Amino acid sequence: MNIPQTSYPRVVIIGGGFGGIALAKKLAKQEMQVVLLDKHNYHTFQPLLYQVSTGGLEPDSIAYPIRKILSKYPNFYFRLALVEAIDTAKKKVNTDIGELKYDYLVLATGSRTNFFGNKEIEANSMIMKTVPEALNLRSLILENFEEALLTDSLDEQDALMNFVIVGAGPTGVELAGALAEIKKGILPKDYPDLDTRRAQINIVQSGDTILKGMSDKASIKAEDFLEELGVNVWKNTRVIGYDGDMVTTTTDLTFRTATLIWAAGVHGETVHGLDAKELLVPGNRVKVNQYNQVTGFNDIFAIGDVACMVTPDMPNGHLMVAQVALQQGAHLGDNLLRLIEKKGSMKPFAYHDKGTMATIGRNKAVVDLPRYKFQGFFAWFVWMFVHLFFLIGFRNRAVVFINWVYNYVRFDREARLIIRPYKKPKMKVNTMKQKKA
Ligand SMILES: Cc1cc2nc3c(=O)[nH]c(=O)nc-3n(C[C@H](O)[C@H](O)[C@H](O)COP(=O)(O)OP(=O)(O)OC[C@H]3O[C@@H](n4cnc5c(N)ncnc54)[C@H](O)[C@@H]3O)c2cc1C
Repeated sequence: MNIPQTSYPRVVIIGGGFGGIALAKKLAKQEMQVVLLDKHNYHTFQPLLYQVSTGGLEPDSIAYPIRKILSKYPNFYFRLALVEAIDTAKKKVNTDIGELKYDYLVLATGSRTNFFGNKEIEANSMIMKTVPEALNLRSLILENFEEALLTDSLDEQDALMNFVIVGAGPTGVELAGALAEIKKGILPKDYPDLDTRRAQINIVQSGDTILKGMSDKASIKAEDFLEELGVNVWKNTRVIGYDGDMVTTTTDLTFRTATLIWAAGVHGETVHGLDAKELLVPGNRVKVNQYNQVTGFNDIFAIGDVACMVTPDMPNGHLMVAQVALQQGAHLGDNLLRLIEKKGSMKPFAYHDKGTMATIGRNKAVVDLPRYKFQGFFAWFVWMFVHLFFLIGFRNRAVVFINWVYNYVRFDREARLIIRPYKKPKMKVNTMKQKKA
């Protein structure tokens, strides 16, 4: 891998997401060699991926080169590499560009979409976990309308303009709101020769509340906002099948659609070598102690989504959100310094909950802070400010801010471009119609 051998201890971090970057920033100015490996050469700000999918932002405004984030640190090395396995006995990682020995290893590989074993849904649905996936979705949404224009069959048109989102967590809710705004503000102008009023946005949730984990007030208000925007909210309904044309559920509700977006869950992205059953908890996350040490190892740590720190008050570990990854990354940085430089014993991690929020559309958001809960215009303003603050890079912040102001004033989303066409397998002919409420 062309990494020099030095007298400094080598810390290898797998993953340049929120956790990996926060950790690298802490360590790279110390007397240690920090090597970060990621299969992408950029950090992705996942909370804004839905805006890329819906043409509100270009992908380069929510992604940032990892090399640039850490370019000023002389002891920092980045390698574009897919880590394939970890050999804990020999203390080395195996990657698609070679192998590398470590003194300390940190797994910060995040999570991947969980289809709960349903191969049919996995094969036919769209997901939105990475920039390329968000671009696929953007292309498909736009291609659907182009195709709808060309068919005389109203059934086909309806299927092409019918969007089904599975999972009413923040990702599903934000996506549904954005699609509803496109339907209202953009489709009539772009497709005057198509009856886009017939486009349907459906969000399906297995439980009886949306935005589970947020306050009842936030959940109820978010549902009101969605309904105001014309989104069909289907609760207590579990999607069980999708053959690329027809969605089936646990109730008698079915949908005919060309686009099923799966936002119903994630599980840990483990790496071979650290994926033995006894190391994992349900959700495929690696069990760690309060210092983020992986069970049975003194020199291997895990942070962020992939890590599960079980404590008496957190029997299922922390939420898989950016704040946990950021805080664990920074905290582990301090602990590794204590450990490596023998500056006292490591300190247990304590999460400082700074709140949760979701936006449903223009002037519509819900915010739960530890002390205050509010919804509406002020919440939407706070949501924007917080997201701008956490974006990496001045240019990205400036570009996103300008885009948001422009989109707000002009009721527009100009990144509705099919740059990289997405070819979906041809739809099967099926004449069943979506059952409406
Ligand atoms: C669409 C979406 C919306 C979200 N919205 C919010 C939100 O509004 N608020 C919030 O707090 N959280 C949100 N989250 C969750 C949040 O993004 C995650 O909790 C956070 O990214 C976790 O950080 P991490 O560092 O653990 O992992 P990630 O940020 O996922 O980073 C993992 C990194 O590891 C790399 N990697 C993985 N496996 C390998 C391998 N084998 N080899 C090399 N590299 C590898 C990946 O390329 C990636 O760069 C959202 C997530 C998604 C997908």
